[in-house]
Amino acid sequence: MMLRFITFVVVVSVVYYLIKGRLRGKTIKNVRHRYGERTQDTVSARLKEIAYVFYSAVKDSSTCDVCMALDGRHLLPGHKMLSNIKPPHAGCKNTQGCRCTLVYVTRDEEGGREIESFLRKHGGMCDRKAIEKAFPA
Ligand SMILES: [Zn+2]
Repeated sequence: MMLRFITFVVVVSVVYYLIKGRLRGKTIKNVRHRYGERTQDTVSARLKEIAYVFYSAVKDSSTCDVCMALDGRHLLPGHKMLSNIKPPHAGCKNTQGCRCTLVYVTRDEEGGREIESFLRKHGGMCDRKAIEKAFPA
């Protein structure tokens, strides 16, 4: 009688742990899968929405001439130069380090689509002067 009871308890706990482990594994897998998909969707959706990127330097007395020259440069988001000039860039001469940023402009922002198509016609990259000339403030 006692042996039967012990066997029963052992079988029940083994089954319980098997089911528990299975459920847990399934849940983690599902959550990961969904999360991964969603993140990927959001990233690609955002990339599609970005019209152009422009380089922005702080423009004060300690801004180096390399960064000053890059300031206002406009590029299409997929341009190969983007990774070269992505701040903080190696060419910066500021002893405190590069303080520049890239500004991502989406298509729904004012002038977004216009500047994007202008960049497409000009090899995907323009400096500040070309943009200011084509789009006077
Ligand atoms: Zn710099």
